[in-house]
Amino acid sequence: MTEFKLNIADGTILVGSKRAVFHCNHYNSFLQKVICDTFGAEGKIMQINASKKINKEMLLNLKAENPDKDFVELAEGTFKDLALGLLDLSQLGSGVVKLQNSHYGLGIFYKFGKQKSGVCLKAAGYVLAVKEILDGSELSAENIQETTCISMTDTAEGICTLEVKS
Ligand SMILES: [Zn+2]
Repeated sequence: MTEFKLNIADGTILVGSKRAVFHCNHYNSFLQKVICDTFGAEGKIMQINASKKINKEMLLNLKAENPDKDFVELAEGTFKDLALGLLDLSQLGSGVVKLQNSHYGLGIFYKFGKQKSGVCLKAAGYVLAVKEILDGSELSAENIQETTCISMTDTAEGICTLEVKS
């Protein structure tokens, strides 16, 4: 389990030495929708790249703080501990990542209904961050596509699939 450091005195939470703020599914769903509605495709790119940047910083700190832990397991566990879903990075080497119980996929489906394209932008950026740390590549939102998303189904069941192309 990833250690979250709570400072009761000032109310801050550190994850990988980065200040973390936790929002509920309602807040996150509305924030993402407002950005996408305002900026369209650029809004999606912006959110994926922002997720990659902040998560890479956090994951590099966690990796340094946990030198004896397997990094992929650490990354999967941290994503789960952040309550964002169950990320399976076991096929990342071949460019495929599976995501169960996606926080954004479920939240947006139940708030706004069936979607026309994938909504797991936070996860996409997180996956890019993990890949960059593992192989030293430089990636951006254009390098990842969510090919299946539970928010695009009729019942929000199933699994999200993210494909990474270097
Ligand atoms: Zn999804």
